[in-house]
Amino acid sequence: MARAQSDSETFDFVIIGGGSAGSVLAARLSEISGNRVLLLEAGGTNQSLLVRMPAGAGTLFKQKSSFNWGLSTVPQNNLDGRRLYWPRGRGLGGSSAINGLIYIRGHRRDYDQWRQLGLKGWAFEDVLPYFRRSENFEGGADAFHGDEGPLKVEWGKSPPARRALYEAFIQSGRAAGFPVSADFNGAEQAGMGQYQLTISDGERQSAARAFLEPIAGQRPNLAVRTGAHVSRILMEEGRACGVEFRLNKDTQTQTIMAAREIILCAGAVHSPAILQRSGIGDPADLRAAGIGIRHALPGVGRNLQDHLDVALVAQTHSRATAWSTNRGWRKPLIGIDYLLRKRGPGRENFLEAGAFLDSRPGLDRPDLQVHFVAGIVIDHMRSQINKDGFTLHICQLRPESRGAVRVPNADPLADPLIDPDYLATAEDRRALREAVRIGRRIFAENPMAGLITGELLPGAGIDTDAGIDAWIRRAAETIYHPVGTCKMGAPGDEMAVVDDELRLCGIAGLRVVDASVMPLLVSGNTNAPTLMIAEKAADLILGRPPLPRAELSHGAAGDEMRPANSPRAVPWDSGFASL
Ligand SMILES: Cc1cc2nc3c(=O)[nH]c(=O)nc-3n(C[C@H](O)[C@H](O)[C@H](O)COP(=O)(O)OP(=O)(O)OC[C@H]3O[C@@H](n4cnc5c(N)ncnc54)[C@H](O)[C@@H]3O)c2cc1C
Repeated sequence: MARAQSDSETFDFVIIGGGSAGSVLAARLSEISGNRVLLLEAGGTNQSLLVRMPAGAGTLFKQKSSFNWGLSTVPQNNLDGRRLYWPRGRGLGGSSAINGLIYIRGHRRDYDQWRQLGLKGWAFEDVLPYFRRSENFEGGADAFHGDEGPLKVEWGKSPPARRALYEAFIQSGRAAGFPVSADFNGAEQAGMGQYQLTISDGERQSAARAFLEPIAGQRPNLAVRTGAHVSRILMEEGRACGVEFRLNKDTQTQTIMAAREIILCAGAVHSPAILQRSGIGDPADLRAAGIGIRHALPGVGRNLQDHLDVALVAQTHSRATAWSTNRGWRKPLIGIDYLLRKRGPGRENFLEAGAFLDSRPGLDRPDLQVHFVAGIVIDHMRSQINKDGFTLHICQLRPESRGAVRVPNADPLADPLIDPDYLATAEDRRALREAVRIGRRIFAENPMAGLITGELLPGAGIDTDAGIDAWIRRAAETIYHPVGTCKMGAPGDEMAVVDDELRLCGIAGLRVVDASVMPLLVSGNTNAPTLMIAEKAADLILGRPPLPRAELSHGAAGDEMRPANSPRAVPWDSGFASL
């Protein structure tokens, strides 16, 4: 990769933001040697042991740093007026450089629903080939997985003692009456199961690691500029033509021109903020921020959706948890062992099992996701409970609540005002209340019950609806999946920000490609879906025909079938002896 030579130089494509989507696009658009591509990223290169080592995630997401924008919401009406902490990745790889490393695509019906909104080319059969293209799955290729893509995906590789805890969680869910899914990204999402991870050979596979590092130094037509904070997009006669940015600590603004397209990939918080600072947005929002209106587009920053999460914590007598594994003198040794020999707990994310469950009968797909942590992780690791324990993080997958992102003023360095308006509907409050009850049902079954010595959170005294609701208001937090703030919409949708080819409505030469374009939040973690969106966008931008649609035979996508007791097919041995 070359550095940008001079700021008067023109590129064909200027990509704003080198996160999950931006990394994919930089790699795909520069595959054609005639395309001159510039990637502008506000943060650094993220070449750090903490990023590479999976267990470094907790340190990265718990506080604002060069890796993490460390944002906060505005006070939340339905969460006792609390401001929720919102980590967002900064630097190459973006949020995929600080995330929890779970590889999940969502449910097939999520994408079919996008298609039902009138978005051509976004049904599950259309997007599955793009998931497959990006993936290099250790389990090999099949109808759902790819094994030739840049992103390495593996099953968890924790030692037997910890695997036994994940196994115990799955078996307890089964005993509580839930099915088992052999592959959350395969034929049937619903049930208890093991997560696939963006870890390979003990190293984090951020989007930068997977898509940019392999081509570093090999493409003279790709320039990557880190420490470049974009303030706004320049327009002439209804066309986006250039980008204004500042280099680190520089007060002087520089501009760079794009001959073909500018592609905004700054994520669900910063993409709408950059549009608003460029004068593109809801006129009332722009006026309130003192920004002149260049192009009225009311959907910019609206339609914010996120996964709100409760964390149930139980104490255990097991010593295979994160606390006993990492505490005291062990902690520095783990870093050293990893650094020198790439061995030990540094290779793990302590989160290898989970579930997709229904909070009530009659749903067409699960509306709750469980992340089972073999340790106590609450308040984004900012509060510590120094005990052996387990955490069930359970979030509602398709909330009804909708919020907004707005810039407070024209200052490019001012943090956007984030208002997810969590728990604004009775259904959202019901689903999260039910999540607490379901989590307790799983903890109450063996083998988990035999491992647990007591419930720490919410705490045994909290069991009425009102008590649980009050605890949720005190304790619920984001599980980091904001989307929707530059939503893709069909013709006639007044709140659409981009069309189904991700072109900004009403401005030529500008696309948005990142998590912000999702019209509806998917039923799972959002990194893989964002990578898929960028893979598909690359073909749209390059004018390539779409990949052939996947052909799934009836039932192969499985969501009609909800086997009550499907066979267990997790690919590791049970380690109950070591409990
Ligand atoms: C703590 C955490 C844990 C998560 N865990 C998981 C998980 O386990 N699995 C999963 O699938 N998903 C997870 N996610 C979500 C997932 O990582 C994101 O949805 C995904 O990375 C979003 O990709 P994106 O391209 O939209 O934005 P990002 O990856 O956030 O990229 C945006 C990029 O734009 C840059 N940028 C912003 N403003 C500017 C500017 N003005 N100028 C230049 N550059 C700018 C940012 O620095 C960043 O690099 C997690 C997220 C977080 C924060």
